Amino acid sequence: MDRIDFRSDTVTWPTPAMRQAMANAPVGDDVYGEDPTVNQLEALAAAKTGKEAGLFVASGTMGNLTAILSHATRGDEAIVGEDSHTYLWEAGGMATLGGIVPHPLPTDEIGRMDLAQIEASVRSDNPHLPTSRLILVENSYGHKHGYPIPTDYFAAVRQIADKHGLSVHMDGARLFNAAVALNMDASEVVKDVDSVTFCLSKGLGAPVGSVLCGTADFIHKARRIRKSLGGGMRQAGILAAAGLVSLNEMIERLADDHAHAQQLAQGLAQIPGIVIEPEMVKTNLVFFKLADDVPMTSRDVTKDLQEQANIWLGANGRRSFRAVAHYWISEQDVTLFLETLAEILRKT
Ligand SMILES: *Cc1c(COP(=O)(O)O)cnc(C)c1O
Repeated sequence: MDRIDFRSDTVTWPTPAMRQAMANAPVGDDVYGEDPTVNQLEALAAAKTGKEAGLFVASGTMGNLTAILSHATRGDEAIVGEDSHTYLWEAGGMATLGGIVPHPLPTDEIGRMDLAQIEASVRSDNPHLPTSRLILVENSYGHKHGYPIPTDYFAAVRQIADKHGLSVHMDGARLFNAAVALNMDASEVVKDVDSVTFCLSKGLGAPVGSVLCGTADFIHKARRIRKSLGGGMRQAGILAAAGLVSLNEMIERLADDHAHAQQLAQGLAQIPGIVIEPEMVKTNLVFFKLADDVPMTSRDVTKDLQEQANIWLGANGRRSFRAVAHYWISEQDVTLFLETLAEILRKT
């Protein structure tokens, strides 16, 4: 890449192997079900998640919305973490496009809603109330350090869902980061949810796309919803080809990103003026802050990093940051980042 970009794993450029696969991909009209590369990607995604079928979608947001609209309908309610991506960062799609009422609950330090609170949130059958239909979970949990939530939580959520006849959808945008960090197969991580969306375009490095997985019946229904959202793409095999490289070659190496994130966290903990909890860093996201006595804002710091070393860092608040490790960030890049940041803060 032409810069050292820590802002997100979405900034990743396709790898040379992806560009090659894209150039050579056999294609067809996917709305007719005739794109062999899309079909192959959907089958591989289903196999990797242990679900019956997959559906290639344009983005994680489209995958989550397609799933929600396939599980629930107008006047239904979805129990959801109040700082989850589906509730906070997807433009309210479930409500604006689906008429589905979100029922947000607080989450703990790693992104879990309280189980008793989930159960207490299930509505009784009363004409005044929306109808409880769905529980939305997320793993890894973006807003809480990208923490990989252990699977016993999802087993417990499943029990509540079964007791009350609800479905469970997982926003697994970074599912494979969670699986690698938990040292589990992705299919184990999602075994207690009905459906899951994961992103090809984050740490897995593809330029575009996500896959929604679930039962064959569910995906049959989701295919119609995707069409209604404008997501029926034609020779999408060009894009799916990169996704195949993601699933075949880019999963195990996520451990490198996690090691770089750990290197970053340990280094940041040594820099005077930085506040960080390195023990919360288990995947590729690193959240940190400026100490109260530092006379700079996060914007000042990100500007200096760019000017001095072409390092791009995301400010997510007046005094806080998120740094993300990915394919295009090396150990040397992390070292340069730490040295440059230490220098900037030393001068204040
Ligand atoms: C990125 C992300 C999504 C959706 O991503 P798109 O940008 O729409 O592809 C969903 N959930 C989480 C947790 C994410 O980080």
